[in-house]
Amino acid sequence: AKLATAEVVYTGDLNADFPRPGPEEYKYSRGIVGILAGSEEYPGAGVLTSTSAVNCGVGMVRYLGSQLVAEFVIGLHAEVVTAPGRMDAVVMGPGDPETEHVHDAVDSLSETNVPVVLDAGGLDMVGRAESVKGTWLAERPVVLTPHAGELARLLSRILGEIITASRINSEPIGWAQKAARLSGCIVLLKGHQTVIAAPDGFCVLPETGPASLATAGSGDVLAGIIGAMVAIAHAKNQHSSAEHPLLERELAHTVGLGVLVHNAAGRRAVNAGALVDAVAEVTGEL
Ligand code: AMP
Ligand code: MG
Repeated sequence: AKLATAEVVYTGDLNADFPRPGPEEYKYSRGIVGILAGSEEYPGAGVLTSTSAVNCGVGMVRYLGSQLVAEFVIGLHAEVVTAPGRMDAVVMGPGDPETEHVHDAVDSLSETNVPVVLDAGGLDMVGRAESVKGTWLAERPVVLTPHAGELARLLSRILGEIITASRINSEPIGWAQKAARLSGCIVLLKGHQTVIAAPDGFCVLPETGPASLATAGSGDVLAGIIGAMVAIAHAKNQHSSAEHPLLERELAHTVGLGVLVHNAAGRRAVNAGALVDAVAEVTGEL
């Protein structure tokens, strides 16, 4: 990847830019996020991703995964809904959700423009073709949240040659831009210096994160935050379209704010359980 000389901006100000609910707001205007995360094999990812979204103060969290995980989630968060219905964003992939639930979620989204956040196993939905063009993903804004290893796999699939994680780590901005351009998605490349790239090359570089985030489950917490932030933003602006570069940039900024919430929570926590609780503290104080 050549380091593209596209626009790079450093975000941001959580205190100034976090979308607080206004007095006129109600749950449907505040945004509903669907969570398809966790499985019988990895139930904890479903709990962390859902809890994280709940703790961001989104209007509603709809859990879309297996019944077993749903029972854990509802046992902890009685406000989570499992009935199908409207959504303003969907997170898919953390903790390897079962294929039947993935198919059901894709079906329920196919006639909509609901934004999708793909993490972990969900990233495998991208890159069998060169981009999301011509697939169900093309109809909507899509945010990919790979770490370097996951982006290496995704790019290897798209480009048909082996791209290693260490190559990506040596030039993260350039590779994130390249992945965004090839896929047509917003790419959030996770790491100590997280990079967010839009398909037109526009990049948001949030502050570096605390190394306490280098622990199992912290990526699931991030996926829940990003889903909640995108749902809140999409509910506010139902006209968003993946094609419009300005709106892509707004989406990149929204995603950047999510990284700032994650970082702030990470500065208060030593593990993902404490991290997800700290998300409520951080957003509650904004
Ligand atoms: P995952 O690899 O999916 O579990 O996600 C890990 C999360 O923790 C991402 O948000 C990373 O950006 C963050 N993270 C991991 N290691 C570090 C580190 N050394 N410094 C800052 N953030 C980190
Ligand atoms: Mg992960």
